[in-house]
Amino acid sequence: MSERPPHTTTDAGSPVGSDEYSLTVGAGGPVLLQDTYLIEKLAHFVRERVPDRVYHVKGGGAFGYFEVTADVTEWTKAAFLNEVGKRTPVLLRFSSVAGEEGYPDSDRDVRGWAMRFYTEQGNYDLVGNNTPVFFVRDPMKFPDFIHSQERMPATGLRSNNMQWDFWTLSPESAHQVTVLMSDRGTPRTWRHMNGYSSDTYMWENAAGKKFWVKYHFKTEQGIENFTDAEAKAMRAEDLDCHRRDLWDAIAREEYPSWRLEMQIMPYEEAADYRFNPFDITKVWPHADYPPMTVGRLVLDRNPENFFAQIVQAGFDVANFVPGIGPSPDRMVMARMFAYGDSSRYRTGPNYAQLPVNQPLSGVHNYNKDGPMRYHHSGNQPVYAPNSYGGPKADPQRFRDPSWFTEAAEIMRAAYEAHPEDDDFVQPGMLYRQVMTQTDRDHLVGNIVAHLSQGVERSMQERAVGDYWTRVDSDLGARIARSLGLKP
Ligand code: NDP
Repeated sequence: MSERPPHTTTDAGSPVGSDEYSLTVGAGGPVLLQDTYLIEKLAHFVRERVPDRVYHVKGGGAFGYFEVTADVTEWTKAAFLNEVGKRTPVLLRFSSVAGEEGYPDSDRDVRGWAMRFYTEQGNYDLVGNNTPVFFVRDPMKFPDFIHSQERMPATGLRSNNMQWDFWTLSPESAHQVTVLMSDRGTPRTWRHMNGYSSDTYMWENAAGKKFWVKYHFKTEQGIENFTDAEAKAMRAEDLDCHRRDLWDAIAREEYPSWRLEMQIMPYEEAADYRFNPFDITKVWPHADYPPMTVGRLVLDRNPENFFAQIVQAGFDVANFVPGIGPSPDRMVMARMFAYGDSSRYRTGPNYAQLPVNQPLSGVHNYNKDGPMRYHHSGNQPVYAPNSYGGPKADPQRFRDPSWFTEAAEIMRAAYEAHPEDDDFVQPGMLYRQVMTQTDRDHLVGNIVAHLSQGVERSMQERAVGDYWTRVDSDLGARIARSLGLKP
């Protein structure tokens, strides 16, 4: 480098004399309080962290673009999707769920898929996983579920026993646990896995017609997983294998890509569909709602700064754009509160003003002040209604996405049942009809290995008798035999 580097300054910009020596009274004397550069440096250092996400802590991500490849205006009026060939900048953050920062990337876990489209009508955030289903269908159980995957209160250790206790007492988890225990629970890289909205959302077209939708991002690199043994070996080789792989691939200009396939259900079909279509523990079978290719996602730019652009990225399930909205999926509704709230906790009420969180379109509203307020609107009126030219909402053009509900008593209850709702049917189909013999053998081996690490005998019995045997009797029998239990 021929250019001289800039001289060091304090945070206030004034030049400093040394990054090597503190200010002392003589070479052997005490350090002085008036060394404000040292004090600033230490004080800043101990404040370097923001609180971790409470889960999905360990992750990595990159920027890129989404390109529309098929006309979807029949189903949505979303401006960023309104033209074939249209490109929208995106940010995608991948993550593990349960482990802390520093945890091995290769460990068995679900992988998060948090995506932001920087559209001309504001940020659209789509936050899903690498699996099409989830462990629980009611947000009331969500914190308990996460607690069961974390650490024991006294020992501070992870506990397979605690995980199986929660899962076997929550039969709705069977579908997701089947996927998690298959080799899809140990993806080889983030590039070699799919991403799913998992949740159901609503699309609305320009004429006001509504549809229920699920998003499937299919990897164009092909699905590749570690076996259980390979994943465990990778722990010793590279804790950050997924973060490193993504960075290196993009640095090599081998840009990973995914095909967006949509499942689209006409609004009226939800009520009588054979499964509850809003139950996130179920998929919509492809034969019922064939996935349609509508776009392509490409990641082609690494972050310039991991902390500023990946750690501080605050995705919010409530960030919709006109033409896209929530569905009666209870998990969506709870997540619409919790994600924004997590960012407000981690980085403050003005987290959306951080560069990575700023929409490309403008922000105009009456929120004001608060810690770290960076953008402001000068002397704009601070209340609505006002007579002095402040922003005006337009209820005719921008109505909240809506659906009809019947007047009903307010209660705490399960979803209304649909004829074929059952927690074990779909994981059973996955085991019997979709998995190859090798997939099934690995599934059995992975479950047995997991159940053999610190899981009480009574818990193993429950896992076999009340859980896996109900997914499939052959599966239950194979696990029982391997664990030395009576089938
Ligand atoms: P299909 O035969 O049409 O689809 C099965 C799908 O399963 C495949 O398209 C693939 O989805 C996925 N798959 C393939 N191998 C595996 C594996 N080893 N582990 C996990 N998933 C795999 O059948 P249906 O749509 O009727 O679904 C049957 C079962 O397949 C479901 O009960 C569910 O467990 C599973 N499945 C269904 C999905 C859906 O949205 N319908 C999505 C994923 C799984 P992909 O291309 O997305 O990888």
